[in-house]
Amino acid sequence: MFSGEQAGAWVRATAAVIDENAAMLTRLDQAIGDGDHGTNLNRGFKAVLQRLGSAPPGDLGALFKSVSMALIGKVGGAAGPLYGSFYLGMSRTLGDAGEVDDEGLAKALRTGLDAVIARGKAQLEDKTMVDALHPALAALERTLDAGGQLGEALDAAAAAAGDGMRATIPLVARKGRASYLGERSRDHQDPGATSSHLILRTLADVVNGRGDTAPGPGTDGR
Ligand code: ADP
Ligand code: MG
Repeated sequence: MFSGEQAGAWVRATAAVIDENAAMLTRLDQAIGDGDHGTNLNRGFKAVLQRLGSAPPGDLGALFKSVSMALIGKVGGAAGPLYGSFYLGMSRTLGDAGEVDDEGLAKALRTGLDAVIARGKAQLEDKTMVDALHPALAALERTLDAGGQLGEALDAAAAAAGDGMRATIPLVARKGRASYLGERSRDHQDPGATSSHLILRTLADVVNGRGDTAPGPGTDGR
């Protein structure tokens, strides 16, 4: 099961991880973009933290909708609408459920990925966040189908996202700003694939009880 408390902990932990890695994400985006990915996402997740308290307690759909709205409102460029679509897709699937079973979480994440693809039209190996998200969802579903526990399945997903992220290095970008560079986008890791890996690894950490998942300030203790 995936609870509302875990969902809130994931979102808060993601904001902290993005903050810790903002400089790294920006450095990656300086190489093949305009150097704003880390600062953009960090601004967005700070806004997410501010909105968290206004989501009705125990309503997963409302929580992720709130995340989506904050990101769409505060993150410019490509990543804001794309991550906004991701969390909005999750929100739609989860409805007003207070918790979901493992398959329900997998389905919500899958809908999130589908929404990213619907908006950005990226295919595998276009050197985007889809290169991390797509293999991650496949690994998650495969592990659950084989009878694995959610924690184990999310670890498999995070590992697959990491592999997908690293596999963007030799690729030539075919979507987004990096695609303007053509061949010169080769030999650089994609910033969006990197932030997607961080987001999924944080989910795996929270569900597996690793790291600080205690409710932080600005929450109502859900
Ligand atoms: P911008 O490129 O507008 O400055 P960001 O720097 O915040 O936006 O985000 C760049 C990241 O967005 C890229 O590294 C890539 O992963 C992702 N991205 C760009 N375009 C697309 C797309 N069409 N589909 C999926 N992801 C994309
Ligand atoms: Mg950028």
